[in-house]
Amino acid sequence: MGTHKVKLESVRRKSGGRIHLTPRVPRSGPVTTLCGQTLGDGSYAAVDAEPDCANCIRRSKDQARISGAFFAQEEGSELLRLSLEQARERRPNLRVLPQPGASREKPVVWPASKPPPETVPDQLGELVTRGFKPSGEGVWRSPQGVIVRMRKHGRPRSEKVDWRFDELVFEGPVLATRTASGVKIKAGDVEVTPSGDGFEVQLKKK
Ligand SMILES: [Zn+2]
Repeated sequence: MGTHKVKLESVRRKSGGRIHLTPRVPRSGPVTTLCGQTLGDGSYAAVDAEPDCANCIRRSKDQARISGAFFAQEEGSELLRLSLEQARERRPNLRVLPQPGASREKPVVWPASKPPPETVPDQLGELVTRGFKPSGEGVWRSPQGVIVRMRKHGRPRSEKVDWRFDELVFEGPVLATRTASGVKIKAGDVEVTPSGDGFEVQLKKK
């Protein structure tokens, strides 16, 4: 089978338990999981979730096992289709008609891809994000619980949207100091400093 990915589907007993893998969850009749269990007609349901049966996961990496499971479930046609696809890749002139009903049920692709971890840039407009935790759209929270609200600023269809300091909320000591260019605010562990014609918001430097 080479590196061709075989689509497997997730299935679980209606009574709960592990999520297993199988080549195809039929509409009726029994289904055999990769780990070798046979679930009786009506006792199972297809689920849109990653499997958590260790045996199924291990066996899903074994192409020979999957091929056997396809045949066992009389889905040899799927295997044939994959073989033909591979043949077509080698011989580009061979046309293969799409398998009728191949997409009748939503396939689950295994292994499932995970979304990339969310990355926060070091600076979002006037906010130096280091040490802050995002707490909703434009809202950030410092380790001491200072809440900073930023507001989007920029032309509507412009790709460059700037975040400007809007509001600071803190139930604790706050010090506002007049400076040459405006007012500097120290609240808890947060400093708001006039900068150019705006502000810079950041955690106090230690
Ligand atoms: Zn299993």
